[in-house]
Amino acid sequence: MTTPLISVEKLRRDYVSGEGTLTVLKDIDLTIEHGEMVAIMGASGSGKSTLMNLLGLLDRPTSGTYRVSGQDTSALDSDQLSALRREHFGFIFQRYHLLAELSAVGNVEIPAIYAGRARSERRERGAALLGRLGMADRTAHRPGQLSGGQQQRVSIARALMNDAEVILADEPTGALDRQSGEEVLRILEELNADGKTIIIVTHDPSVAARAKRIIEISDGVIIADRRTDAADARKSETPADPGTAASAPTRWGAGLDRFREAFTMALKALAAHRLRSFLTMLGIIIGIASVMLVVALGTGSQKMILANISSLGTNTLEVFPGKGFGDTRSGRVTTLVISDADALAKLTYVAAVTPTVSTNTTARFGATVANALVNGVGSQYFIVKGSTLVSGRFFDDESVATLSQDAVIDENTAKALFGSEGSDPIGKIILAGTVPVRVVGVISSQQGGFGSSDNLSIYLPYTSVQTRFLGTTSLRSLTVRVADDAEMDAAEQAVTDFLIRRHGTKDFFILNTDDIRKTITSTTQTMTLLVSAIAVISLIVGGIGVMNIMLVSVSERVAEIGVRMAVGARRMDILQQFLIEAVLVCLIGGCLGIALALSVGAAAALSGAGISLIFSATPMLLAFACSCLIGIAFGFLPARNASRLDPVAALS
Ligand code: ADP
Ligand code: MG
Repeated sequence: MTTPLISVEKLRRDYVSGEGTLTVLKDIDLTIEHGEMVAIMGASGSGKSTLMNLLGLLDRPTSGTYRVSGQDTSALDSDQLSALRREHFGFIFQRYHLLAELSAVGNVEIPAIYAGRARSERRERGAALLGRLGMADRTAHRPGQLSGGQQQRVSIARALMNDAEVILADEPTGALDRQSGEEVLRILEELNADGKTIIIVTHDPSVAARAKRIIEISDGVIIADRRTDAADARKSETPADPGTAASAPTRWGAGLDRFREAFTMALKALAAHRLRSFLTMLGIIIGIASVMLVVALGTGSQKMILANISSLGTNTLEVFPGKGFGDTRSGRVTTLVISDADALAKLTYVAAVTPTVSTNTTARFGATVANALVNGVGSQYFIVKGSTLVSGRFFDDESVATLSQDAVIDENTAKALFGSEGSDPIGKIILAGTVPVRVVGVISSQQGGFGSSDNLSIYLPYTSVQTRFLGTTSLRSLTVRVADDAEMDAAEQAVTDFLIRRHGTKDFFILNTDDIRKTITSTTQTMTLLVSAIAVISLIVGGIGVMNIMLVSVSERVAEIGVRMAVGARRMDILQQFLIEAVLVCLIGGCLGIALALSVGAAAALSGAGISLIFSATPMLLAFACSCLIGIAFGFLPARNASRLDPVAALS
């Protein structure tokens, strides 16, 4: 005696609902041989579909044994079950269950994707199957463009794709008109004649009459099992259609192929809900763009400020009168005088000292007038500040001693006053306020300093400015350049002690440029960290948005997941498909976010608003990796939910 194809013993299926359990199948015993054409008939609610789902391995029995070709199925895990489904069973559903985004041939080839067949081969076979079912001219049509009968033929072709031995058809004609139903039954008869085992579930006696064996079921028990007149109990031991056995590509190649199909499906799913996908991405776009902009802004402004500070000189101390920048009386503190500078200059750790006084006034040359800052400085000033001479010369100690009206101007001033005529400023007389001064040198403009670099600066001997502009001998500040081999902090302390001794009280304060640099560096770092933290939070919120939409997407596509599982998708395949979708949303969002940040940067640069954004590769790569991770992290739960779905629950 040969092993029966299907053998069921004491099969029982209970549903736990509310308080009690509902026993839908009560200890069914049944065997079906190769090549049979069986109708399972019964009233609605009698348990036919439940039995069918058990036979198709979509569902597990509560108790009893089920053997397929002698193999006990009760010990198999879900992936082994899907492998068995893939190889042995083809499903035809009452409502076709075709995937709307795919063409007819695309639907037909799904089982072959999971079986790991080569792409060209499955295209060819899918088209050939459709051709055999009279659908040769409809292969590229979407399900929505096909009639019910045509859709059912597509689903028959899908059931045949992996060359299944058994075709399980649950009310295959239930949604069709008479003629289309007749057509479907004829196809099933032909397939049976080719050697396929056909099991049809129906409540319609006229449909059941087409089978060679009718099993009647009522309230979960088999009440009749008879062969019709037509039955010749023809048995076929070999599966039909031997010429189409699958060529098995390498494991690696098959995995890659499934990945590619999942990728295309994910793209199609995203394209099917463009607005929704975009809105979901928005959170990621904003998050990534803000992370990048914040980091770029932090780097940019830090660099700008540091450049300004280094233009002040890195080893200089600025001594100001008063108690601090906020001291309103500092203007009236007149104790900082030139003899302090002379005394300081004699100290060993001081390389040079220059006093400064300053006043705002107008600069005029011919008809051109501009506002300018007149700086009274010592001859050492240009050395202390490291100024570069563009043309002419600096003024010297003698100019200071003689209160000369020799002026050094910066390039901004040269441009403002002489730019239009393009003439050489050296030797020209300009009016600073009401004082005529002669230009002896042009220096390159200071990179900002603490004022804007657009300021016009005129440098005169401080003695001239004190007498001709201010009428006072007190100084606005002293700039001390510390000797290269001296320690900055020690020098600052020594200068402080020295001046306190001279003045008898601390009526001045010292700005150490090195301190400022350190403070600004650490401040901008703290700011960047803080704002980055906020941006990361917005990324997390974006990720939760992705998770939310993915959960919606999974619950919307439960039927699709069911079909994929019925035709043999592994849990891994489903997980992969939804994970790819989530990662894609995040990656596309990430790319758009990077593009947005870069275009904001470009716009800021074009607008010339003086905002400096410096983008570097690292934050960009981090943003990219970040969006990938968000996709995986927040996509995992929905994807896992999808892969854990019960095929029967998904299909019902
Ligand atoms: P049919 O013969 O019409 O195909 P079914 O096999 O679908 O009948 O259902 C048989 C019985 O099992 C019905 O009474 C139905 O209410 C019940 N049933 C089916 N699926 C479930 C379920 N998931 N939970 C609870 N009861 C169910
Ligand atoms: Mg049913």
